[in-house]
Amino acid sequence: MRLVRFRSRSGIAQGILQDDRIAELKSGTSVDLTAIAAYHPLADVALLAPCLPSKVVAVGLNYRDHAKELGMAVPEEPILFLKPPTSVIGPGGEIIAPAMSSQVDFEAELGIVIRFRASRIAPAEARGHILGYTCANDVTARDLQKRDGQWTRAKGFDTFCPVGPWIETGLDPADLLVESYLNGERRQSSRTSQFIFGIERLVSFISHVMTLEPGDLIITGTPAGIGTMRPGDEIEVRIEGIGRLKNTMR
Ligand code: MG
Repeated sequence: MRLVRFRSRSGIAQGILQDDRIAELKSGTSVDLTAIAAYHPLADVALLAPCLPSKVVAVGLNYRDHAKELGMAVPEEPILFLKPPTSVIGPGGEIIAPAMSSQVDFEAELGIVIRFRASRIAPAEARGHILGYTCANDVTARDLQKRDGQWTRAKGFDTFCPVGPWIETGLDPADLLVESYLNGERRQSSRTSQFIFGIERLVSFISHVMTLEPGDLIITGTPAGIGTMRPGDEIEVRIEGIGRLKNTMR
């Protein structure tokens, strides 16, 4: 099932994508996926970021090939950082190049969307706390990441977390192809089976640090092949079984 947020003439709502139409869910009933308020042709709405996270928890260095390209050792525990909720934009949204950076990179990542408020989740219980999966782009001002020594500014600009186009439920995330395309040319290609830390470990580990809320987004690290975007470029994240997240840089 593909869960969406969208804007129609009657406002912003959540819904289920069914081929070329959206079944709008009654407001406040995102847990009840059977309460349909209305139907909209997909062509008549604008898709928005599919979740409104209270926080975006990101994982650094979760593919062995990316650790190697950065010349960094494979970590013994997940390396976590946060992106602010104000960095989130939806499919088709514009990534705005900040004046204070001269190197803005794309990072294609699998996103995990949390279903229930929870903390201290056991690895064996982790799948049950996941609503579904989406495509994400961990946009990074690489020059500022190096200069600052920590990553808040480099990862935190407005528009630096494109997400979407929807949340795919009922997907086995164990071995999905994760790719990025810059202006139609493939730049990253790896599989989630190459993760250093798997989905269950990540959800459990993070939930032992902070309470996870419904709609919170965990982005699971990027594979090798990261590169820099320029204004006018089109960047697309493609994940097998989910779809394509396309954004442009301005
Ligand atoms: Mg990343």
